[in-house]
Amino acid sequence: MKFQIEDVTVYFPYDYIYPEQYSYMIELKRALDAKGHCLLEMPTGTGKTIALLSLITSYSLSKPQTPIKLIYCTRTVHEMEKTLAELKLLHNYQIKHLGPQARILAIGLSSRKNLCVNPTVLAAENRDSVDAGCRKLTASWVRAMAAENPNVPTCQFFENYERAASAAVLPPGVYTLQDLRVFGKEKGWCPYFLARHMVQFANVVVYSYQYLLDPKVAGIISKEMQKESVVVFDEAHNIDNVCIEALSVSVRRQTLEGATRNLNRISQEIDRFKATDASRLRAEYNRLVEGLALRGNLPITDNWLSNPALPDDILKEAVPGNIRRAEHFLHVLRRLVQYLRGRLDTENVEKESPVSFVASINSHAGIDQKTLKFCYDRLHSLMLTLEITDTDEFLHIQTICDFATLVGTYGRGFSIIIEPFDERMPHIPDPILQLSCHDASLAIKPVFDRFQSVVITSGTLSPIDLYPRLLNFHPVVSRSFTMSLTRDCICPMVLTRGSDQLPVSTKFDMRSDPGVVRNYGKLLLEMVSVVPDGIVCFFVSYSYMDGIINTWNDSGILKEIMQHKLVFIETQDVVETTLALDNYRRACDCGRGAVFFSVARMLVSYRGKVAEGIDFDRHYGRLVIMFGVPFQYTLSKILLARLEYLRDTFQIKEGDFLTFDALRQAAQCVGRVIRSKADYGMMIFADKRLLARAIKGEPEIMGDFLLSSSSELVDECRYSRYDKRSKLPSWILSHLRDVNLNLSTDMALHIAKEFLRKMAQPYEKIGGSGRKTLLSEEDLEKMGDGGMDEMLY
Ligand code: SF4
Repeated sequence: MKFQIEDVTVYFPYDYIYPEQYSYMIELKRALDAKGHCLLEMPTGTGKTIALLSLITSYSLSKPQTPIKLIYCTRTVHEMEKTLAELKLLHNYQIKHLGPQARILAIGLSSRKNLCVNPTVLAAENRDSVDAGCRKLTASWVRAMAAENPNVPTCQFFENYERAASAAVLPPGVYTLQDLRVFGKEKGWCPYFLARHMVQFANVVVYSYQYLLDPKVAGIISKEMQKESVVVFDEAHNIDNVCIEALSVSVRRQTLEGATRNLNRISQEIDRFKATDASRLRAEYNRLVEGLALRGNLPITDNWLSNPALPDDILKEAVPGNIRRAEHFLHVLRRLVQYLRGRLDTENVEKESPVSFVASINSHAGIDQKTLKFCYDRLHSLMLTLEITDTDEFLHIQTICDFATLVGTYGRGFSIIIEPFDERMPHIPDPILQLSCHDASLAIKPVFDRFQSVVITSGTLSPIDLYPRLLNFHPVVSRSFTMSLTRDCICPMVLTRGSDQLPVSTKFDMRSDPGVVRNYGKLLLEMVSVVPDGIVCFFVSYSYMDGIINTWNDSGILKEIMQHKLVFIETQDVVETTLALDNYRRACDCGRGAVFFSVARMLVSYRGKVAEGIDFDRHYGRLVIMFGVPFQYTLSKILLARLEYLRDTFQIKEGDFLTFDALRQAAQCVGRVIRSKADYGMMIFADKRLLARAIKGEPEIMGDFLLSSSSELVDECRYSRYDKRSKLPSWILSHLRDVNLNLSTDMALHIAKEFLRKMAQPYEKIGGSGRKTLLSEEDLEKMGDGGMDEMLY
């Protein structure tokens, strides 16, 4: 369908549009018109992606004199491919209506691991090895050697691509990663380098968050992007954590040992070069006197990750004299490694600011702040000079230099935390030194400053006014949309008591109470007997899940559950979990029914949770049970330091942040059962701490949520003044009826039976009884004539 939003003709590839998609587009257009940033929350399953793509590409088409580029960031490769597939559909529709005028070039960009077509290189098991394997065949000095000696191996795909020179371009079209590989194989060109080259010419680029947020990657991939671009961060509810991770570094004993080995190897290489080709080292020295920016344009294959922090003007400075000579630089690094080793040798938890840490390095190891700042680039330069291609072997020393540069650059927004062991396993010494970034706005600031419009969108951004504070920006539009439904197909419930009327909770002092564990087990047992197909259970952590499953096993509850449905468990092993998910789906498909046990959050890292982003829609998830509230581990020193920083810098109270963070995780978990409007599902929040009241924003309950025994923090939360703002996304809250707020197991069971019976009735998909949930072209025209109120939900 085709319709008008003010001066823009929007091409939308379907015959009907949801009212919320239409409203979403109107708000998005306002932000584009104002050339500002925006925050838009809309439930998953309402066609957010296609609404975004349609509006932005149509907007660009309607203003051919000022074309805009779309940079679309996704969290996973799977999401990237899905986005490009939708864009393909849209593009075909636009071509049908507009002809060649609608032609665009849209590409997905990912790492070599996903784009390489050279079978020998691709055989390597991880990303770093594939990168290194490619470098071994394509580095400028390797190719120079191969020109003289045909026995030196190179990559034919790269050679062909280079030979084709300016003829190596992608014709207009939409290319998924798979399409790029097929095109590359057909032409004999390397798809990875081709895609990287085409990024600057493409109208739409789809890639991962890191390509914009991690300065090391953004510095080489995204530096050419023009200001007139619209950047979209999709599924951005955890964007603050991605920003923080991009600027945080951990150093363990193994890192230091590896770094020492790396330094020995570099030292041998320096000796070898001194004996055979000392002029190269001299040339490097002269180059460094001029400054890093003057090292000339590196061939595309010699680019390493760029500097994690340095602003451009520093690149023009001369490299400090004490690290210009390779052997001097090596001495500095050895002293730094030695110093860090000493710091790890501690029995106490230590916390320091970067400023005092740098002062301490200066007095103990004689390395000043400016030298630290240049470490990363100096190492890069040295590795190029020494013609090192197996960069995956040098990750340890890279980490140390990454650490040095960050600590030497930032005085605020970071802490250095040294812990002799993990708090949860105090008997195992495992010292770790972490440079932890607390300020998410640091990594995202260049993106806000550089690009015309940045769109942050997700199904869960509530409370929507917290993100601008966390990321330190001013959105011109900030809106939350609900889902227009033809029937009440979402049924959230809050369960506070078990079948014996005893309260249930994962509160720290209650979580291992046998009564709570038994009641949780009984709840699941009752539900498996009435809910058809798939049920997903989320626990607050892996350790809690392990403990509770063991107890259920010992008490026989697990066996009883398995009489109704098969049970599958998520583990930290990717292969195992993928297999479990596969079999879970098969059990749901064949009608046997299954239960999947998963965790709501990783304790340490936000990335890498195995079942992250997996949908449990339709019969794969008719019910999701959230056992407890997934608060972060509040004794974590890093979390405490971040909370302190947020309070002092952005005036965000600890309790506010913790509740917000827990509820966004919970909303993410439960939201995975609904992926379209034809779907239906129930959500049970099983925790006595009157989550209901917390959701409604009442004050006195908050302290109870914490797992922490840190009384100060608990008090802060307990007595903090909570406004009436809701903490869950409005599309869940609007279905949370008051009678479902304080249930026991038998009441929940009754509601579940009723709900399932209701869902089994036939219904009208486009919406009856005066509520339109699907709008046609005519409806939109009528709305334009002023009949909007009748149409909208
Ligand atoms: S040049 Fe391309 S095809 Fe060849 S090894 Fe590198 S990534 Fe693979």
